[in-house]
Amino acid sequence: MVRPRTEAPALTSPSASPAAAPSGPGERADVLVVGSGPAALAIAAALVERGLRVEALALDDPAAPWANTYGIWGPEADRAGLGHLLEHRWSNTVSWFGAEPTRHGIDYGLFDKRALQQHWLALLAAAGVVWHRGRAVEIAHHSCHSVVTTAGGDRLAARLVVDASGHEPVFVQRPQGEPIAGQAAYGLVGRFSAAPVESGQFVLMDFRADHLSEAERQDEPPSFLYAMDLGEERFFVEETSLALTPPLSFPLLRERLERRLAHAGIAVEAIEHEEFCLFPMNLPLPDLDQRVVGFGGAASMVHPASGYLVGSLLRRAPDLADAIAAALADPALDGAAQARQAWEGLWPLELRRRHALFRFGLEKLMRYPEDQLRAFFTTFFALPHQEWSGFLTNTLPLPRLVGAMVRLFATAPWSVRWGLIEQRGREPGLLARVLAP
Ligand SMILES: Cc1cc2nc3c(=O)[nH]c(=O)nc-3n(C[C@H](O)[C@H](O)[C@H](O)COP(=O)(O)OP(=O)(O)OC[C@H]3O[C@@H](n4cnc5c(N)ncnc54)[C@H](O)[C@@H]3O)c2cc1C
Repeated sequence: MVRPRTEAPALTSPSASPAAAPSGPGERADVLVVGSGPAALAIAAALVERGLRVEALALDDPAAPWANTYGIWGPEADRAGLGHLLEHRWSNTVSWFGAEPTRHGIDYGLFDKRALQQHWLALLAAAGVVWHRGRAVEIAHHSCHSVVTTAGGDRLAARLVVDASGHEPVFVQRPQGEPIAGQAAYGLVGRFSAAPVESGQFVLMDFRADHLSEAERQDEPPSFLYAMDLGEERFFVEETSLALTPPLSFPLLRERLERRLAHAGIAVEAIEHEEFCLFPMNLPLPDLDQRVVGFGGAASMVHPASGYLVGSLLRRAPDLADAIAAALADPALDGAAQARQAWEGLWPLELRRRHALFRFGLEKLMRYPEDQLRAFFTTFFALPHQEWSGFLTNTLPLPRLVGAMVRLFATAPWSVRWGLIEQRGREPGLLARVLAP
């Protein structure tokens, strides 16, 4: 069901001008957060809730609208107490892997991204968080604090720095040289000559591909339609490639979307907005021994098998904030030990193992041809709700996650099973990381 637009809460304006760098050790910020995207705001809000003195560095106005749209499963938003910030919420949620729809039976929502941003900014303003403006370019570490220098020459000191500057972070280091798969999508919000999806419906993955030739279906990488009814005869339709190295190109995705719509006899009548989506899916974990702590895209927190990030920001910001608060309160720890403790709070062994398992899973999915991929997803979504949704939201403890995968293997057709058994390319190495991440 499409819900009416949520009214955004009043925004207490963050300080717009650069503040003076803290002068003495007594006044030094506990944490400097770099960035003003969802990850930066989520972690800054969790830190001030723990009584820490937080400053933040934004490239631009931190209240400038975010470019992306953020989708999330309804129960995830509810668990974080943010269900009221969903602009749209659908209970008619389906996918198509064959002739009949797979009904998911779980709500899906789209955040009112402005309301979400303002929710966090208001919390930060109420806690007196100082916003600096500038591009972080350098960092120097001392025994008990770090100093970030901006392109404009400002020097910002804090006991700990959290880098939330996105998928290509300014400071966080991670292993280089591994092939990285990108999720790519081309979408548009618009009006159409006929409804591309049922009224009040959200389509997670429509893998029907009758609009492609047999040769295209056999030889070219698959893509699917992600689509939703936005109400008032507006729809969002997006042709999406789950993950590929190198990613599928935007022109190809656009052409496939046009052909898909034309095949269904649907013409685009008005385009309100075009979305070009590209982000890395299977980044390796960052080096957990570094002095700068990461969060969000910077800390490889995108779910490697589904591409979702926002749910895990909401769930894991409190864990990282707890670890930082405890580390900063411990007088026996120097800066390096505090950072190590913080990283451990964000990426404990259990989560590192699950991350390795998801990366291994994605490697398998990327090599399935279209018919096996459909068979895989049919089996996957036939698992009990708690298992498939726990897999997609990374909320299943490792033993249950492994149990779900065993069940999937046991119930899958032989073509899918064979794909799971056969170890190709770097799959054995990725699997070994589940034991030694
Ligand atoms: C089109 C699109 C749609 C997506 N849809 C979803 C979705 O539906 N659900 C979902 O969970 N995920 C989605 N994602 C994936 C992911 O959630 C986003 O990429 C998300 O924005 C990452 O959040 P972040 O805060 O880590 O990084 P970003 O949003 O990239 O924010 C980084 C911040 O750091 C700042 N910054 C960068 N460099 C510096 C510097 N040197 N100094 C100071 N500041 C700096 C930037 O200005 C920005 O404020 C989508 C991604 C894209 C591209």
